[in-house]
Amino acid sequence: MNLYGGEVNKLIEELSSLPGIGSKSAQRLAFHLIGLPEEKVERIAGAMVNARKNVRYCSCCYTLTDSEICPICKNPKRDKSVIMVVETPRDLAAYEKTGRYEGVYHVLHGAISPMLGIGPNDIKLKELIKRLEGDVKEVIIATNSSLEGETTAMYISKLIKPTGIKVSRIASGVPVGGDLEYIDEVTLLRALEGRVEL
Ligand code: ZN
Repeated sequence: MNLYGGEVNKLIEELSSLPGIGSKSAQRLAFHLIGLPEEKVERIAGAMVNARKNVRYCSCCYTLTDSEICPICKNPKRDKSVIMVVETPRDLAAYEKTGRYEGVYHVLHGAISPMLGIGPNDIKLKELIKRLEGDVKEVIIATNSSLEGETTAMYISKLIKPTGIKVSRIASGVPVGGDLEYIDEVTLLRALEGRVEL
């Protein structure tokens, strides 16, 4: 049904393709945007375009950043010999918020899922193995405790074990199927401190 004309419908359609935005929210947002001064809308749109254009993966840990190397990898105070492996930049952000982890990260951008057809080559795993050629003492696997997260953890530990580098897994204080980003900082710290060697 073409209630509002093509342009408005197009906007609603685009907005509702975003995660967590259903058709009602999309409508609400669309009308909100249409009611704003034009330069405000241009600022919002500009911020989106610029973020998309300028943000890329850190060439070391693969988190999102707007420079070649992210601030964490660049920081001389961070211990480069300890690498925490996470699924997404949001998981990294959750651990950073605790302010207590001093190592560096590796962002996989996903997890192995035979069901969804996501294999080891579809995530940043080769890139992790490449990093182990450097001076690395420990790899902490902090993938989610979902089936995919556990499968990935197992796969990584089998891959790394023969190298003699210590591999540990964060403690299972993190609820099964729980997304790391929703878990409070105390639980995250406990999971990190209680990590077990694989
Ligand atoms: Zn980095």
